[in-house]
Amino acid sequence: MISYDKQEVWFITGSQHLYGVKTLEQVAEHARKIARHLNGVSQIPIRVLYKKPLSTPDEILQLCLDANTSNRCVGLVIWMHTFSPSKMWINGLKILHKPMLHLHTQFNSDIPWNTIDMNFMNLNQSAHGGREFGFMNTRLGINRKVVVGYWKDEEVIERISIWTRVAVAWKDSSTMKIARFGDNMRDVAVTEGNQVSAQIKFGYSVQGYGLEEISTHIKAARKKDILKTVDSYLDEYEVVKQLMPKGRQHKSLIEAARIEVGLRSFLAEGDFMAFTDTFENLAGLTQLPGIAVQRLMSEGYGFGAEGDWKTAGLVRSMKVMAHGLPGGNSFMEDYTYHMDGKQMMVLGAHMLEICPSIAGEKPSCQIHPLSIGGKAQPVRLVFTGSVGPALNASMIDLGNRFRMVVNNVDAISPPKKFTKLPVARVLWQPHPNLKIGAAAWILAGGSHHTCFSQNLSKEYLQDFAEIADIECAVIDEDTSIQGFKQMLRTNEVFYHFRQGFR
Ligand code: MN
Repeated sequence: MISYDKQEVWFITGSQHLYGVKTLEQVAEHARKIARHLNGVSQIPIRVLYKKPLSTPDEILQLCLDANTSNRCVGLVIWMHTFSPSKMWINGLKILHKPMLHLHTQFNSDIPWNTIDMNFMNLNQSAHGGREFGFMNTRLGINRKVVVGYWKDEEVIERISIWTRVAVAWKDSSTMKIARFGDNMRDVAVTEGNQVSAQIKFGYSVQGYGLEEISTHIKAARKKDILKTVDSYLDEYEVVKQLMPKGRQHKSLIEAARIEVGLRSFLAEGDFMAFTDTFENLAGLTQLPGIAVQRLMSEGYGFGAEGDWKTAGLVRSMKVMAHGLPGGNSFMEDYTYHMDGKQMMVLGAHMLEICPSIAGEKPSCQIHPLSIGGKAQPVRLVFTGSVGPALNASMIDLGNRFRMVVNNVDAISPPKKFTKLPVARVLWQPHPNLKIGAAAWILAGGSHHTCFSQNLSKEYLQDFAEIADIECAVIDEDTSIQGFKQMLRTNEVFYHFRQGFR
């Protein structure tokens, strides 16, 4: 459901004709070596494709045209080995609409103190060539990531790898279809938003369906598929006694499997990558989907509860960025607090829909009543999330633009056992602490719904926001309320002017 196959990053080198053929051959040879190295490192999960160095405006324009129309190219890594006069780049950069990473590196790591001569100086000009290129990007107002350092450096590789994963997620977002079963939870504000603006900005389209469309698929679920799904419940989870084949509520487990088979077939048939539902629109469904949503999320589908399509899209994008990394990503909600002054923490959970990819233990498959919605008892997976550094990210629609809000947290182990809590959960302490973290989040207007990630750092979300050209308000160990408020005010002005009169 998520694949990195057939995706490429193009490695582009800028130069010019002044130095003669021999120097250009050396430029090409060095560029090939760097591209080969980046292609070979395991951290960069897709192919890095070497492209012949560019030294004329026509070549540059053609390359940008090719990149735009290539279905495989998710973005360009651009390096200036020599000086490359940047007026040559104007026509190309003006039409380029793929993400860009400017790699500010040089072929040699050290200055060869004893042998350095004018030939060396003519060839190794990244230090000033990169500045000329930077000027033109800034002059044209192009968002890009700038990574500085030696190309074999672990930290440099890591930063390229992060951007590459984000570029794949960006491409995924540009064609994403989000299915919305029912509408929004009535009267809720933050889960609303302008779907036209979202499609213009992120590419994804949100498509609404009545519940009869999903219930038709659920009714059509084949017995064979339902039984296979029940078998995987029994195999993969600790199923409570009453749901087991001879248990008194086994029928509910079969019903949960029927919903999963139906939902899965609906999503597959429409090529959807994310979906939402709401407990207020459940006509034709016997129970609110619990385990079905949890399992589909763990396979890579984005999800947002109560009609929250922005979070559904964000969960999907974050799952694409994190593809293959240890740890998980889940739809999440700040549920309740532990306000003991010494160790304040947040209990994150939802009515049902937390992704088992973040579980720190084998999930238990249980059935309990849901206090709202008035439907049959839903089957759900119950577990506690694993411990370690994590973050919450939220996407909100401010009416005239989008804002991403990110908060670093530490997931911790519950100080006492939960004996009656019937939902999956994770406990965390926000950075820099709950008082500042929650106050900053609230001042930024961040949603109660988030995507909780165990394997993405804030840099992923910052890169994503940079490509999307939206604000990214980060709350971390350096946050002070005074500084954060000022940043939000400055950003209001910046983004207002940035988008012009629209
Ligand atoms: Mn909710």
